[in-house]
Amino acid sequence: MPATLRCPACGTTYADRWRCTCGHPLDFADRPLPDRPAPAFTDLDARDGLWTFDEFLPVEKRATLGEGWTPLVDAPDWHCAFKLEYVSPTGSFKDRGAATTVSRALEVGAERVVEDSSGNAGTAIATYAARAGLDAEIFTPADAKPAKLRAIERAGATLRRVEGSREDVTAAAIDAVGKDEGWYASHAWNPAFFVGTATFAFEVAAQRDWEVPDAVVLPLGHGTLFLGAYRGFRALREAGWTRKVPRLLGAQATGYDPIASSETNDENDLADGIHIREPVRADEIHEAIETTDGDAIAIDAVATDREHDRLGRAGFNVEPTCAVATAALTEYRDRGVLDDEDDVVVPLTGTGLKN
Ligand SMILES: [Zn+2]
Repeated sequence: MPATLRCPACGTTYADRWRCTCGHPLDFADRPLPDRPAPAFTDLDARDGLWTFDEFLPVEKRATLGEGWTPLVDAPDWHCAFKLEYVSPTGSFKDRGAATTVSRALEVGAERVVEDSSGNAGTAIATYAARAGLDAEIFTPADAKPAKLRAIERAGATLRRVEGSREDVTAAAIDAVGKDEGWYASHAWNPAFFVGTATFAFEVAAQRDWEVPDAVVLPLGHGTLFLGAYRGFRALREAGWTRKVPRLLGAQATGYDPIASSETNDENDLADGIHIREPVRADEIHEAIETTDGDAIAIDAVATDREHDRLGRAGFNVEPTCAVATAALTEYRDRGVLDDEDDVVVPLTGTGLKN
């Protein structure tokens, strides 16, 4: 039986639905936790990818490409550690959520999935749908990166390029879902996606022998990874596997910064992965910032471009959206939000090969 969904706002439960009748995004009614102490790293079977942590997951493994266990490496020039999410099967952290979301689609008997995305989530959903033998319809902005569009088409998905804003792209996808064209595999709305992104936190903690960092600095659009990290680190603490939740520090793009509210006139058009003006789960993002002593700031295109070059020259072939996070790390230190001795992890979320 697929796990039940519940609305955190009004408490209504559903066997399956993409959002509550009250309009709020849904979550799983129960979040499973392991009933054993934290295992030694060497007792974890990494051959199972992110499904190593299935004790925490309300979704069964049905679609996988071996995602998970991305490297955690030293980044001495940034005085932190980078988690190389861009080495995932389709080149972004979105594979974590695509694996769990397409698995959920199979659990509930969906035959066709619908997603809207600037490119990475669409590539991930199209690819995992192909792996699972499901049809996929992916809505993207008309000006999405050509390599991302090609990756979606190569997986056999139906590509719908939409003129207008990122919000117009979402509206077109929701319209298709409303007409019963498919099951909404949205990385913003579907709770199964956050089950997958939470495994980022499990891996960071496991790779550090269950010592969580002081802070994690992440790109922040819809909060797909930001909230996955929040949920994952909280679940670890609830399970007694770790002792604290790190500070969650968001990095937004200027002109697309509803959480940071920078009020600048600059529009950071380089960071196409986080061009979100209406995050679906804004209330939970604010909660995550408040309860972890976190923050959110906006980074402009000049700093993003400079930092993107710096990452490339240090051996990290990533997309510009990643550079927003490392630029924010410097800014947080300059502002005194982080001390030099704070132990920080930054995910590098998307590959440079699709740019
Ligand atoms: Zn509701």
